[in-house]
Amino acid sequence: MAPAQNSGFTVWLTGLSGAGKTTIGHAVAVELERRGLHVEVLDGDVVRTHLSKGLGFSHEDRDTNIERIGWVASRLTRHGAAVVVAAISPYDTTRKRVRALVEEQGPFVEVWVKAPLEECARRDVKGLYAKAFAGEITQFTGVDDPYEEPDDAEVVADTVALSPDESVALVMAELERLGIVPVATPASAPR
Ligand code: ADP
Repeated sequence: MAPAQNSGFTVWLTGLSGAGKTTIGHAVAVELERRGLHVEVLDGDVVRTHLSKGLGFSHEDRDTNIERIGWVASRLTRHGAAVVVAAISPYDTTRKRVRALVEEQGPFVEVWVKAPLEECARRDVKGLYAKAFAGEITQFTGVDDPYEEPDDAEVVADTVALSPDESVALVMAELERLGIVPVATPASAPR
């Protein structure tokens, strides 16, 4: 049974590699911490070095990875944490499964961090798109593995149109609108 005073929730950022999930997720985490919440960030790249070490990028391994993150997010949500997940999470049915799992414990707010493939490839923060286009790595989301666009995201953050700060403000406004976090007072408003 969930604790009586449970106020945990999960913000789940999904999108292509390089779309801005980590950038926006960490900034949202900073803002949530400034508001006094206990925050845990689960970043897909980091999770793959620990919890999901050894998993590859087949459909099955990707599902396992996302389901593991979803399970941890649900446990943390149950105990009142503000959980921020930044993971490509490319498959719609898997996202819906983790949503259902988390929602047993608290709100699940999906943020589609949206940028076209061409823009992500242009940024190519990790040099992975160049390798994927050269065929040096395969099963790369958006290149030779699908990204299924969400139809149920609470927030769509278009990172071509919005600066990182504007995307963070959009996410925070949605959390406030849903009554998940209190509306910022002037003292705690972003500087
Ligand atoms: P992901 O976690 O989705 O793979 P990252 O956050 O690691 O993406 O990388 C996104 C890159 O794009 C960062 O280098 C970031 O500075 C850059 N970037 C450029 N414009 C934006 C924007 N408007 N919003 C978010 N990130 C942006």
